[in-house]
Amino acid sequence: MLEVEDLHVEFRTRAGTAEAVNGVSFTVDRGETLAVMGESGSGKSVTAQAVMGILDMPPGAITGGSIRFCGRDLLGMSAEERRRVRGEGVSIIFQDALSALNPLFPVGWQIAEMFRVHRGASRSEANKRAVELMDRVHIPDARRRAGDYPHQFSGGMRQRIMIAMAIALDPGVLIADEPTTALDVTVQAQIMELLAELQEELGMALILITHDLGVVADVADRVAVMYGGRVVEYADVFDAYRRPAHPYTKGLLESIPRLDQVGSDLQAIGGTPPSLMDMPLGCAFHPRCHYRRETCVTTPPPMYTVGPERASACHFYQEVLDDHGDR
Ligand code: SF4
Repeated sequence: MLEVEDLHVEFRTRAGTAEAVNGVSFTVDRGETLAVMGESGSGKSVTAQAVMGILDMPPGAITGGSIRFCGRDLLGMSAEERRRVRGEGVSIIFQDALSALNPLFPVGWQIAEMFRVHRGASRSEANKRAVELMDRVHIPDARRRAGDYPHQFSGGMRQRIMIAMAIALDPGVLIADEPTTALDVTVQAQIMELLAELQEELGMALILITHDLGVVADVADRVAVMYGGRVVEYADVFDAYRRPAHPYTKGLLESIPRLDQVGSDLQAIGGTPPSLMDMPLGCAFHPRCHYRRETCVTTPPPMYTVGPERASACHFYQEVLDDHGDR
């Protein structure tokens, strides 16, 4: 349904050029959940913005690659065609619903606007559809609450309103960019449950952008791990967790607290993520990698095929696989 191939995005600033996305490729099919995970600054959200066509350009620029939705080239479309795909083909929910919603208009009006603008619905028809959608995302007393403003809702309810807007036009792909980060754990679980329910009902593809490894394990089918603007491991979620094929994925997994290791120190990945304006030569992860050898400093690793639908950008992926063993 969505194919991203060799995507490159740069930000040109006075201080220099930041290579925010550097050759990212992935696909996601109908009904499937792809988790895109990695630390802040790894390029996850910029990739999502490029797919949605909402990058600030300038300073951002897509300098290479392709994005195809149902076989149609999104980057070659006119602004008007792109606007139509946004919402009807691919839609997004953001982490911070309060800043994504307009504080000056009732939420029902904001949801109804999707139907007025994209479908040419009359005001009363659009309002009716908005209430139906609020019901569908389980907002109690939807008819009455449609007249309330964003600040009158809790964080979890506001995220439900964002989800209602995102699914209003039955998109083929929904991108959820850290949808639960600002919420407490119980509400996080409810929102993830709602997304899973809607995905099954509507058959959409879901791209879940997160750094929460627990959420990924619960809901994803496949995972793309990003580091320094590129995908460094691409795998079935079960394979990635059981036996990672990249030292960065391995480090992320080892930094999760485990019940069978109470009292022992948590393993952290040493060092800091690279500056996108001054990426290390060779493999971008080499300053932090215990597996590093001379080759890593001089030669960027290509994406090695590790198995069916599985790849790793590590010269020594076999060693990583052998080291981790089965869990
Ligand atoms: Fe580590 Fe080298 Fe693999 Fe990069 S290529 S992740 S530095 S072992």
